[in-house]
Amino acid sequence: MQAITIKMIDTAKRDIRKLKLEELKAFFVEKGDKAFRAQQVYEWLWQKSAKSFDQMTNISLETRDMLKANFVINHIKVDNMQRSTDGTIKNAVTLHDGLVVESVLIPAEKRITACVSSQVGCSLACKFCATARLKRQRNLSVDEIYDQVAAIKEQAEVFFGRPLTNIVFMGMGEPMLNYANVMAAIEKITSPKGLNMASRRITVSTVGIAKMIKKMADDNPKFNLAVSLHAALNETRSSIMPINDTNPLEELAEALQYWYQKTKSKVTYEYVVWKGVNDTPTDAQALLKFAKLVPSKVNLIEYNPIDDGEFQQADEAVLDMYMDLLEKNGITTRIRKSRGKDIDAACGQLANKS
Ligand code: SAH
Repeated sequence: MQAITIKMIDTAKRDIRKLKLEELKAFFVEKGDKAFRAQQVYEWLWQKSAKSFDQMTNISLETRDMLKANFVINHIKVDNMQRSTDGTIKNAVTLHDGLVVESVLIPAEKRITACVSSQVGCSLACKFCATARLKRQRNLSVDEIYDQVAAIKEQAEVFFGRPLTNIVFMGMGEPMLNYANVMAAIEKITSPKGLNMASRRITVSTVGIAKMIKKMADDNPKFNLAVSLHAALNETRSSIMPINDTNPLEELAEALQYWYQKTKSKVTYEYVVWKGVNDTPTDAQALLKFAKLVPSKVNLIEYNPIDDGEFQQADEAVLDMYMDLLEKNGITTRIRKSRGKDIDAACGQLANKS
């Protein structure tokens, strides 16, 4: 029985990027080759983001054939690239099993930001978000997250002649519900053996799952945390974000205090102001009170309408009211204009429409 099991594992082609460097070394040694070969292949797989074994030109043909017989590289495919009039690029990314996610390159004066997905679809059901309409199908693997960043890094260089500077986990899905893979992908993205990007240029955005924020704080993160707050009164927040029923603001606040105590890193709140939802001075006061709990800043983000028009962005005067109150009380607040709206690439618009 055991012999059969071993044989099956031996013959199945594994995704080579599931192997750690040590495991790859062991594989080569077992095949009578040098451990050093693993290092070369590993470099192709991660640093050079090779899509096929044939790209590995410093590896002998014989070794490449041996690798092909044993492994596959499940590299993502960027099938469709749409460009916005503002320069934003939206990628439709096909995964090895045919599922599709989206990732976005956002160029700005001083930065180029990659906005990447962490899950296929999303399970959170935020009422204002287009991705919420897609059923959550599965988590992305470490290499699928990594590949999105590598692809955008290349696009930044090719189309803009500039390096990728920032990464935000603000695409499809909830990073905290694919925690292990997101953390491992960040590890690879920041590693000199990977893309060698700076951790402090990475922001993970969450709907606000208290126990995961605490867990993350314990894992000594060096990246930034953003929380999609949108309302600082439980009743309002629950009415637009079902997650608030099981993760009320008190628990979120406690988790964020824990986060700050451990990391000494400011929290960014993402907040959209909608007509008739959270557009009164009481709502703004509640946000101020919440924002004062831990050192934080607030991004008032522009609403990107999704199809049925149930939600409408509040008037500018209301945004000014928020801005004045927060700034007067020492909370750094920015109004964030959307990018890539014409191609449905803006926050909350990712829904695999193209
Ligand atoms: N699940 C994570 C990551 C998604 S980030 C999170 O919730 O943070 C996407 C951001 O866009 C979130 O802040 C989300 O609340 C916001 N968003 C969703 N729909 C939007 C819309 N239609 N217009 C503007 N922002 C939206």
